Amino acid sequence: MRVIQMVDTKTQYQKIKQEVDSAVIEVMESSAFINGKAVKDFTVNLNKYIGSNYTIPCANGTDAIQIALMALGLKPGDEVITPSFTYIATTEVIALLNLTPVFVEVDPATFCIDPAAIEKAISPKTKAIVPVHLYGHAAAMEAIMAIAEKHNLYVIEDNAQAIGCEYTFSDGTKKKTGTIGHIGTTSFYPSKNLGGFGDGGAIFTSDEKLATRLLMIANHGQSKQYYHDVVGCNSRLDSIQAAVLDIKLKHLDEYNARRRKAADYYDNAFANHPNIKTPFRAVNSFHVFHQYTLQLTGVDRNGLKDFLASNNIPSMIYYPVPGHKQKMFEQFNTASLNMPVTDMLTEKVISLPIHSELDEEQLQFITSKVLEFVNK
Ligand SMILES: *Cc1c(COP(=O)(O)O)cnc(C)c1O
Repeated sequence: MRVIQMVDTKTQYQKIKQEVDSAVIEVMESSAFINGKAVKDFTVNLNKYIGSNYTIPCANGTDAIQIALMALGLKPGDEVITPSFTYIATTEVIALLNLTPVFVEVDPATFCIDPAAIEKAISPKTKAIVPVHLYGHAAAMEAIMAIAEKHNLYVIEDNAQAIGCEYTFSDGTKKKTGTIGHIGTTSFYPSKNLGGFGDGGAIFTSDEKLATRLLMIANHGQSKQYYHDVVGCNSRLDSIQAAVLDIKLKHLDEYNARRRKAADYYDNAFANHPNIKTPFRAVNSFHVFHQYTLQLTGVDRNGLKDFLASNNIPSMIYYPVPGHKQKMFEQFNTASLNMPVTDMLTEKVISLPIHSELDEEQLQFITSKVLEFVNK
């Protein structure tokens, strides 16, 4: 059996090695390392894939959220509603920009921000909502957009974990996550569903004015060369990453299909188990399983993690400390917030290996070891 990994980027690379190698060599021979043809081609192809009007590549997924927030023209102290149960990148940039993160609960089934909790958290200072399509499952975007419209708020979708996920509205309209809010962001960190060989990110919008601002902010606030209209930053996707990503983009649907197949295998193996809750899949969300995350009840989670590790099966706790309890946010006095769902999830979740290269032998081994420990 091949070694089991949380993410097997090595095997994935081996399968497309020739194509990727020649694309990278082409960039090196062209020497167009910054803003080269590869970046332009990838941007056009990604824009088409996701179904956006404008796609702005940038240096990483954290920058993407930061630039998106910068483009909204908010003032210090303005409030941004966001889930506490997410990766720190989502919420850190809010505080970095002197905005106030307002942490709210997630839906215990989807792990995504709870629209009812958003509505309760709205104040006169609220300016934006940053939902996260956590683990590859879409947040309840129809409800979120309705709340945003009613209260005149911006929505920035953190789509770092869900590229390729499709959301279906109640009228049957389908849109890719990342293209539903005013702005969407994503990350090409190597372990993401569309991962580069280094850092990368992108920002999506269908609003021309926002697109102009986003592009300007990502490029030193520059409107034309050496004319800088607003304070921006330097956030670029380099040509080598773009060349790799352009090839992997052609395989993204297949990679996601394989993640879903692995998830099906896990679902079947753990079906109706009294101690294991498998991930929920809302009918309106095409889950792309960035993570496959179980909720355990009456199981020693650390014991299971250690038992799996002793069998060379990696597992991860995403995330052991929720945003509202991070020391980083002490100034906002969030530690005492009453967040029973978030606190419960941080204690119950465990993520199993999931990626495009898992085979049946590995899945059989993983599930049998999980059940061996849980049924003991
Ligand atoms: C990975 C990730 C990010 C940040 O992406 P980087 O490219 O690592 O900066 C942001 N939000 C979420 C939910 C993520 O998983």
